[in-house]
Amino acid sequence: MRYQAREVGVDGRVRLVLEGALTARDRVGVQDFVLLENFNSEAAFIENLRRRFTENLIYTYMGSVLVSVNPYKDLEIYSPQHMERYRGVSYYEISPHIYALSDNTYRAMKTSRRDQCILISGESGAGKTEASKKILLYYAVSCPAHQRMASLRDCLLQSTPVLEAFGNAKTLRNDNSSRFGKYMDIQFDFRGVPVGAHILNYLLEKSRVVHQNHGERNYHVFYQLLEGGTEEQLLHLHLDRNPQKYLYLVKGNCPRVSSMNDKNGWKALVKALSVIGFTEGEELLDVIGSVLHLGNTQFGEEEDGQTYVTTEMELKTLTQLLGVDGAALTEALTHKKLTANGEEMISPLTFEQAGAARDALAQAVYGRTFTWLVEKINQSLALQVNGSSVIGLLDIYGFEVFQHNSFEQFCINYCSEKLQQLFIELTLRSEQEEYETEGVAWEPVQYFDNKVICDLIEEKHKGIISILDEECVRPGEACDLSFLEKLEDTLGGHAHFVTHKLANGKTRRVLGREEFRLLHYAGEVNYTVTGFLDKNNDTLYRSLKEVMCQSTNHIVEHCFRRGELVDQKRPEMAATQFKNSLTKLMETLMSKEPSYVRCIKPNDAKQPGRFDEVLVRHQVKYLGLMENLRVRRAGFAYRRHFEAFLQRYKPLCPETWPVWQGELAEGVSTLVQYLGYKPEEYKMGRYLVLMNTLRWEGPIIVIQAA
Ligand code: ATP
Ligand code: MG
Repeated sequence: MRYQAREVGVDGRVRLVLEGALTARDRVGVQDFVLLENFNSEAAFIENLRRRFTENLIYTYMGSVLVSVNPYKDLEIYSPQHMERYRGVSYYEISPHIYALSDNTYRAMKTSRRDQCILISGESGAGKTEASKKILLYYAVSCPAHQRMASLRDCLLQSTPVLEAFGNAKTLRNDNSSRFGKYMDIQFDFRGVPVGAHILNYLLEKSRVVHQNHGERNYHVFYQLLEGGTEEQLLHLHLDRNPQKYLYLVKGNCPRVSSMNDKNGWKALVKALSVIGFTEGEELLDVIGSVLHLGNTQFGEEEDGQTYVTTEMELKTLTQLLGVDGAALTEALTHKKLTANGEEMISPLTFEQAGAARDALAQAVYGRTFTWLVEKINQSLALQVNGSSVIGLLDIYGFEVFQHNSFEQFCINYCSEKLQQLFIELTLRSEQEEYETEGVAWEPVQYFDNKVICDLIEEKHKGIISILDEECVRPGEACDLSFLEKLEDTLGGHAHFVTHKLANGKTRRVLGREEFRLLHYAGEVNYTVTGFLDKNNDTLYRSLKEVMCQSTNHIVEHCFRRGELVDQKRPEMAATQFKNSLTKLMETLMSKEPSYVRCIKPNDAKQPGRFDEVLVRHQVKYLGLMENLRVRRAGFAYRRHFEAFLQRYKPLCPETWPVWQGELAEGVSTLVQYLGYKPEEYKMGRYLVLMNTLRWEGPIIVIQAA
């Protein structure tokens, strides 16, 4: 008996034709790494990725994990027809795809009634945000919709352009880099209809508002407004179309990005804001404009050391846009209020202090407006009827290393460590649980457990964050360098912490005196401590807050609540706030059933068709993909419910084809034996057949049985 089978790619092309053979290895590689014969070989793993990448097959499974390589070009594989192809189809029957993962997660939620989450990871530029957009699109388009809730679907889709305009920027790594973390819960009712959603945002990189490294930009929205705003709008805001005129936009010397169209970005933003139902559009424009004018507000110094504002016109515009009192704003930008022994004292700011106060105000206005925007979006996505289960979608900043790394990279990379912890915990746990319930023996695979690095950062009293907080509240001479010294005193000798000081009193040349190095699970990063204390403190002078509280601009007024002025308790510092929000996030994710998308960046040049093996190997290593594969292979990489297995493979065995009349388990046994599985290659569990090799992949199309 002979059969023919072919793999039909998502693009509709037939990729392989087999006749009678039961194993398929050809130029497109295997669609599931678990099928790799040499599964211990990193070279074979990377070769498989490369082959598939060359064929535009950017997705590959590793069991239930989806590995994705950024193609850096538009592939015609995301149309509604493609969505249709993946709806309700079993995971392995058609080429791997992000839609398959989305569909599978959706069905798992519906059948098991358990909350799901999809965790997308990978370094900056690897394609996390693009993946999350595709998943969102899949749910918005292909899930059954509630008639009353057609607008929910639009709001879901339109939340992206708003958040991207305000929270993404060009960096050296990615032209559209997310500078905030995003976790979105999509709620479904008992029939699987999306009925609401909620977004949590994490630590926006505020320092970008006032400073950008060479070759980088400020947030997209500024350039989009200058490029796309109407003449009247710009006139009202007293803005010039040329970004070079604004000090907050020139630091990176990069006003334009070839891959971005700011005009279209603006159009998309305006449309999105109207779909979401923003009524404060004009006030939002005023806020964006005011940040640019703040940046151009300059100071002079009198002979007696008094600081004053030299840019009267800017200040006037600012006052109008923010709807605040001009004299009060001038005073607050150049003086601070101190309370000593119950008495209020006014003390002038130095030239440098005034500049820092201005920058702190710009960051506070922008950062709080961003959070306000998320709240507004959440209102538009709020649950309209009772939800019963949830799919969570996490797209959070990827591990990043620049030449100079500061507080922001420290937080971003700490977040990466936490997610790696979660991955280890959930992968091992879920594997172990499954083997236990199926009564199959299990041999653990050795992992590098990065808990030691998480502890180094977050442990109470002796972790880096605790030490930073202590330095921030220490009266007297605390500064960035004293923070570094304290780190050295407490953590010197830790296997993952290094400074220029060597144990023998000599110095290590490769590190500067303001630097410390962390040996992250994903690689070494040198952090410069300059700015750590200020960024962690994140303070805004009280007098500036007072002025903002009185703003007639509703957004600003909402962002600066009077209650803040009377609250005597010091708010948590930035790193601790971040740590606490990550802890909560981890708890949320732990309570759900996870699926993973592991994104890989093929080259640093952001170019299609280039597969840099060294770069890919590094990512394969730190994403823990080889260990992950070993875990899958250590036990039985493939597991299928008896019924699904029989249904899928019955054409390959005359005794089970076309209908198997007996017990399911018996049918599966007959089938696997017919397929030539040796006893050590499979195990019959209670409900599942577990195998450590799969003899057939891709769809089985029976063309003729001779
Ligand atoms: P960051 O951590 O900096 O936010 P990221 O992982 O979210 O990075 P993306 O913004 O998703 O990275 O991807 C970077 C760029 O790569 C995109 O702007 C797009 O040009 C390209 N890209 C990523 N995924 C795809 C895809 N599936 N198809 C086509 N292009 C893609
Ligand atoms: Mg992103």
